[in-house]
Amino acid sequence: MIRELEYYSAIPLIRVERYCDQMEKECGEIRERYGVDAPDYGKPLEPHHQRILDRFVKNIQVLCREPSVKGQISSHPLREYTVISRLDRFEQEIHPFRESFLRHESPDTPGQEQGVRDARHRTGGRSPPLSRMPSRSTLMDRKYPGSLRQPIHHIRRIAVRDPDRCEFCEICETLVPCARAESRRVEDCTGCGACAAACPQEAIRMEEGEGAGMVTVTVDGEGVAVPAGVTVQQALEYLGHTFGRFPGEGDHFAPCRTGGCGACALAIDGALRQSCITPVRDGMEIRTELPAGTFPLRAVTGWTGLGVGGVGTPWQLQGSRPLIEAAVFACGCNLRCPQCQNWTVTYRGVEPPLTPREAAVRMTVERRRLGVSRMAISGGEATLNRPWLLRYLEELLRLNPDPGARFHVDTNATILSRDYLDSLVEAGMTDIGPDLKGLRTETFMAITGISDTGLATRYLRTSWDAVRYLSDRYSGRIFMGVGIPYHPLLIPREEITRMGDALCRIDPGIQVTVLDYRPAFRRRDLARPAVQEMREVRALLTGTGLRMVISQTAAGPLGP
Ligand code: SF4
Ligand code: SF4
Repeated sequence: MIRELEYYSAIPLIRVERYCDQMEKECGEIRERYGVDAPDYGKPLEPHHQRILDRFVKNIQVLCREPSVKGQISSHPLREYTVISRLDRFEQEIHPFRESFLRHESPDTPGQEQGVRDARHRTGGRSPPLSRMPSRSTLMDRKYPGSLRQPIHHIRRIAVRDPDRCEFCEICETLVPCARAESRRVEDCTGCGACAAACPQEAIRMEEGEGAGMVTVTVDGEGVAVPAGVTVQQALEYLGHTFGRFPGEGDHFAPCRTGGCGACALAIDGALRQSCITPVRDGMEIRTELPAGTFPLRAVTGWTGLGVGGVGTPWQLQGSRPLIEAAVFACGCNLRCPQCQNWTVTYRGVEPPLTPREAAVRMTVERRRLGVSRMAISGGEATLNRPWLLRYLEELLRLNPDPGARFHVDTNATILSRDYLDSLVEAGMTDIGPDLKGLRTETFMAITGISDTGLATRYLRTSWDAVRYLSDRYSGRIFMGVGIPYHPLLIPREEITRMGDALCRIDPGIQVTVLDYRPAFRRRDLARPAVQEMREVRALLTGTGLRMVISQTAAGPLGP
């Protein structure tokens, strides 16, 4: 199986044909169920058919336009005929069902048509994506006679390792919470994708594998059939749930998808478990609403004392004593920076998660042991699990009520909305170090590895707005130091200058630290910028009028 997929995946045209084969089966099932010539408009589409249509509509254009496929098509007229005609035929077959779904009005669900109209209105008259259709909310309420009995053909994702790239570091089995780590059987792969995200050699691809049948689970008290051999998240997606990477988008928030942050955790068999990595199993009970009083959980690691501090540490404290901060690092991140400087924390999903109180107690012990007054949390990305972070800060404040205690959050600031910042301050945060990874979306995408332009734009805007808001609202109450990561291959100097101008307009006295990227993770080819180069970048920023610029260099920090 692995060899076959590896061989096929190297040939995009075959991928298209495999997709056609798959669609042939799935279209056949839909055609048989609903009738292609006269679709039954009164019959609601079942959730797995909705998902098939959704995937089809999304993929068909992409596949037709894929340049490598086009190149091969033009040199293979026979294949052109085969591929194009098959895709055209599927599109014709699928179209009536999509329309029938959009127009569907059942006497049992009178609100649905209005919901469709509302959704169309919100999208400017266009049909909303099927995955976000308002009918999702009704899916879990309906019974689908037969769906629990009939095994449905489906595809699932599996991880495929490229032996030519793999360096046998075993990160994919020891750092990430891999469901097949013990058995090492391909069929135990749930397709969670954590190993593909964490592999420093980029040796793992997610491919389509054969379905493993269906299992029955209970979701919010209702028995439903879902694909076997997948994660709880994928099972819920199959049922129409959506998982967003930005707060408020989708039914559930799943930003890291490697098991670290715990933001996607649901009550699974009575315990809080991350839906992105937990394998679904027959008879499993899933609750999407957490019972009252459930404590959030998050993996944190690497308790240590820092002599230099982080971006959000005031410059004046540098060198004042051997250690100035106790720090801990939260696992999981919403970004995918190829040069991640802390990637063994970012992708660490095997750490047993802690409650906020457990983490706060441990931090308090560390603070006392190290004899410091500052307590920092960094990452990974510390802010992804909002309930956890707020409770952690509250507990920390309760355990450390002395006026000298400082509570410092280092963050990429990509999800720090204004209300989130207000809550952090209310919970006890006293110092914050937001990073600004560029001014232009293209730069942000290059630095962070986020390939979705819309998502990257929202992340970048949010981080700048957080800095602006903190300066406007909390200046004098909260200490803020801003970080700007730098490497000539990732961000041009001209953009650094424009960032300096923008920060100067916010507050010329703001502390700014330029961070030199060292070779790490997937960018081991990056040469660390020379000390002189970092001095010049610092000069660019001070030239904009900023008064407190620090440059991190191989020879130590260059201060104001
Ligand atoms: S993490 Fe990547 S390089 Fe390391 S063993 Fe796994 S596949 Fe190989
Ligand atoms: S980490 Fe997830 S995707 Fe990778 S092999 Fe394990 S179960 Fe499969």
